[in-house]
Amino acid sequence: MSLLEIQERVAAAAVNSGRLAVDVSLIAVSKMQPDARVKTVLDQGQRIFGENKVQEASGKWPGFKAQYSGIDLHLIGPLQTNKVKPALALFDAIHTLDRPKLARKLAVEIQALGQAPQLFIQVNTGEEPQKSGILPADLDGFIAQCRTEFDLPIAGLMVIPPIDEEPSLHFALLAKMAKRNGLAGLSMGMSSDFESAIALGATHIRVGSAIFGARG
Ligand SMILES: *Cc1c(COP(=O)(O)O)cnc(C)c1O
Repeated sequence: MSLLEIQERVAAAAVNSGRLAVDVSLIAVSKMQPDARVKTVLDQGQRIFGENKVQEASGKWPGFKAQYSGIDLHLIGPLQTNKVKPALALFDAIHTLDRPKLARKLAVEIQALGQAPQLFIQVNTGEEPQKSGILPADLDGFIAQCRTEFDLPIAGLMVIPPIDEEPSLHFALLAKMAKRNGLAGLSMGMSSDFESAIALGATHIRVGSAIFGARG
């Protein structure tokens, strides 16, 4: 698939659910992709990209940022507290805030920096032991803690559904959790399910292989 085809499918999915295409941000997930492919997509005008590792992104994105203006870089993988500083230096959005210790560290570094990235809280809706994300039962308390104790601006929620379950159930659950907490952002949907995520209110979809091809 090409970037253009994906953009057309995003627009169609938005229209079909009575939404505006401009209200859905397409994050092109470039992790583990060769630079030449990333460059092709940059040359086609894409500016929003997602990476899942701070170290890998630190290697490739400063160069691209020097060559192309207006890049909006999103961290979509787990963040360790000792990587918060380099993450804040590089990323415009972080989708994987999932624990008080990380929230505390982010708060300290954001204060020092004087600017905050867009922050999404990752929710482990499938309650999978191996997966990161805050458990549904702890979510409302954690959002309140982020807001009052850490003064962190929370943009929305993020989910990676269990691979063996119907993703739309998890998208609907995430939308419900966001709504009851007054959060507008919904980071959900990947190559195989972004259309159903858009139907259920996704504001940010994370699409890798459908744009770039299989990861090397
Ligand atoms: C890799 C990744 C994606 C993109 O997956 P595709 O199936 O290639 O679209 C989306 N979200 C997260 C968190 C990822 O790690």
